[in-house]
Amino acid sequence: LNSLVQQDLDKPAVSIDGESVEMLINAGLSADSDIAINAGADGVGLYRTEVPFLMQDRFPSEDEQFTRYRDILNSYRGKEVCMRTLDVGGDKQLPYFPIVEENPFLGWRGIRLTLDHPEIFLVQARAMYRSAIECGNLSIMLPMISCLNEVDEASRLLEQAWAEVVDELDLREPPERPKHGVMLEVPSVLFLLPELAQRVDFWSVGSNDLTQYLLAVDRNNTRVAELFDTFHPAVVRALKQIIEQANLHNTPVSFCGELAGEPVGALLVLALGYRRLSMSSFNLAKIKYIIRHVNLNDLSALREQILQSQSGSAIYSLLYEYLEKQN
Ligand code: PEP
Ligand code: MG
Repeated sequence: LNSLVQQDLDKPAVSIDGESVEMLINAGLSADSDIAINAGADGVGLYRTEVPFLMQDRFPSEDEQFTRYRDILNSYRGKEVCMRTLDVGGDKQLPYFPIVEENPFLGWRGIRLTLDHPEIFLVQARAMYRSAIECGNLSIMLPMISCLNEVDEASRLLEQAWAEVVDELDLREPPERPKHGVMLEVPSVLFLLPELAQRVDFWSVGSNDLTQYLLAVDRNNTRVAELFDTFHPAVVRALKQIIEQANLHNTPVSFCGELAGEPVGALLVLALGYRRLSMSSFNLAKIKYIIRHVNLNDLSALREQILQSQSGSAIYSLLYEYLEKQN
């Protein structure tokens, strides 16, 4: 099977019934960008910019960030790279910026931290925009958004950074400003989707944190690992709510939580209607193979049954049986 999976690497992710799925990768945590290009990714759905920050003993300068971002955009020329603004705090600590808190996952994380330190946010945004002006293929994503004020404040800072960069480069005809979007990973945003659709260009579902916060289960605590159930009916209904609202408001939505890189998880997300999946590059070939061997129309017919199921294990079994039948 492995060699069959490898053979499918460069083929497009088109299902038996002819539906295309956009296949993106999550990058940043390792030097996986080159592997992914070979693996036939359509682009980068999530570039975790924390990594260059974690590898230093101080905040990287604007020029250092610019060089790095430009190299990444260059290595994906012609394909979109969605870079996420700094998402530290929680379990990701910068050695030179220690945060001591009783509940780090409920504390000073992601956008909360960078909005309290706009100088950090602005330097990063300027570095990103400078690299975009050279290379073109960038979009920007905001992590841990929990209210509209955060989106408005971040959007204002992004606009400021763009104006500064365009002004300094003295461009006669500045290119269009790169698109920006938000991660949907804090449950409060489930009730703010129409307003978010008005404010940003795209959404990306972070099922790792969304599951953690919906179910009040630490994503890294092995003692409660069994309760971290991404097939939990509440999680599944939340995912359905998001795709429905995305379609209603014509907001492009991708799915970048780890769930999309698991065979049965990918089937769930596809059954709900997601067609832009982002995953760790080592899962790409496997999920592509699955997509090329399923009928997405048949799979979608399971949606009602999935949504009526009353436990994660029931939903998992339903999809697992479907997968088994394909062979
Ligand atoms: C997520 O929360 O699902 C996500 C993709 O982001 P991270 O794993 O970096 O928190
Ligand atoms: Mg997250």
